[in-house]
Amino acid sequence: MLEVRLRGHALFFAVQDLLQLFFGRAETDEAAGLLRAPRGPTLVLTSTVGEEEVSTLRADGRGPRAPRPADERLLRRLLRVQLYEVLARETGRSFPWGSLTGIRPTWLVRERRLAGWSQLAIARELVRFYHVMPARARLALAAERTERQQLDLLKPGDVLLYLHIPFCPSRCGYCSFVTATGVARPATEHRDYVAALLRDMEDFFGSDVWHRRAAAGCRIRALYVGGGTPISLAPEAFELLLAGLDRAAPLLAEARELTIEAGRPDCVTPAILARLREAGFTRICINPQSFDDHLLAAAGRPHGRRESEAAFALARAAGFPEIHMDLIGGLPGGTGATLLADVRRALELGPESLTLHALAPKRGADWWETENFRESTDLVAGFDAATRLLRRRGYRPGPLYRQKRILAGLENCTHALPGRGGLYNTAMLSDEADVLGFGASAMTKRVLAPGRVKRLAAPRDLRLYMARVAELGRRRRELWEENG
Ligand code: SF4
Repeated sequence: MLEVRLRGHALFFAVQDLLQLFFGRAETDEAAGLLRAPRGPTLVLTSTVGEEEVSTLRADGRGPRAPRPADERLLRRLLRVQLYEVLARETGRSFPWGSLTGIRPTWLVRERRLAGWSQLAIARELVRFYHVMPARARLALAAERTERQQLDLLKPGDVLLYLHIPFCPSRCGYCSFVTATGVARPATEHRDYVAALLRDMEDFFGSDVWHRRAAAGCRIRALYVGGGTPISLAPEAFELLLAGLDRAAPLLAEARELTIEAGRPDCVTPAILARLREAGFTRICINPQSFDDHLLAAAGRPHGRRESEAAFALARAAGFPEIHMDLIGGLPGGTGATLLADVRRALELGPESLTLHALAPKRGADWWETENFRESTDLVAGFDAATRLLRRRGYRPGPLYRQKRILAGLENCTHALPGRGGLYNTAMLSDEADVLGFGASAMTKRVLAPGRVKRLAAPRDLRLYMARVAELGRRRRELWEENG
């Protein structure tokens, strides 16, 4: 068991992140001022913040030392870097993003770019100071460029609209989305839920608050209908949703994209696709996750390669200008080679954009520790090879984010042909644009000033959401009334 004793500081989180990255689990004992990693080697480390110096030392006094930074954020980063250096040496392991444990590595790049740093200087810092692997440093720089190009499409006051449909016909084994409600439900529940969501949305867009914003030039620039599997709605509820969007058409007239997450290929039918096109959707997400039937079965996905290929062909035939795909690396039994094979098959189909996800199993799942502890070199190499292949085929990395417990310390990154890729996703992740979210678990965000964001999360449980629509609406209007 590894033990880290804190001296002169109580930055448990900074240390815990690193211990979780290396060993899956870390226990915090605040009273004793220490953390333990049961899966770690037998070792005691002391992480000290002194008046002048910061150090992370073994019992024999060896380990990194550096002058204490004045800035608290830099101090946290330095503590992580030092601990990463010691743990990498002790275990022989390294991770794609080195000591960076944050979920938006491109924010660090943006911060440096805005401060006038050159690309070379940023890359050097990522690799030499934070120990980011060179391939990931390149990815972060390229992804930040794409994110910036997409964000430049937005004008001040532009808004994103998100509708959450939390229904799926069955639940996938790895699902970490808000789908406590995500199993098959009675059709009346679908209908009642959609009716509540539309009431919530229409109340807001009928309010004085919105009219004032609209009069000041506020426009919806992207719509994303996500879930769940929105197209798995019972027919009556599905039509109700489309009728609601039809009523909202004037609001959506200046949207650059209207996206729906079809999600599961086995739910796609020609009739549904035709209705979505009639309703004006320009972008559809079809998510094979893998083209390997064995991996899909192990993940609890009730479809195979054939359904994904057929769904893609149907979406093309229906005339969607943009088809997006999700693939997951690291499904149980998956390797770097299976991921690369999946990307090759996706490229044969030719989506305009695709996101490579690294599996991020649910917190607390027993098998997560085993999976995370699994030797990750092969999967990292698979992600690297897939990224290079996508680049050769003309795709550019775009929105990039990580999750707390993501396999092998990897990332989720969307790769898109030039000018394609979801504006909604980029803007949502950026915290630079206001978001109006309707539906259970949907997030409404108000950017009051750069770096100052207020959030309002809807209840995750759909019954609670339906019961609290009026109260939620009031709080949303209040949030929208706040001046930046
Ligand atoms: S289709 Fe998506 S949202 Fe639905 S259960 Fe599977 S992973 Fe979760």
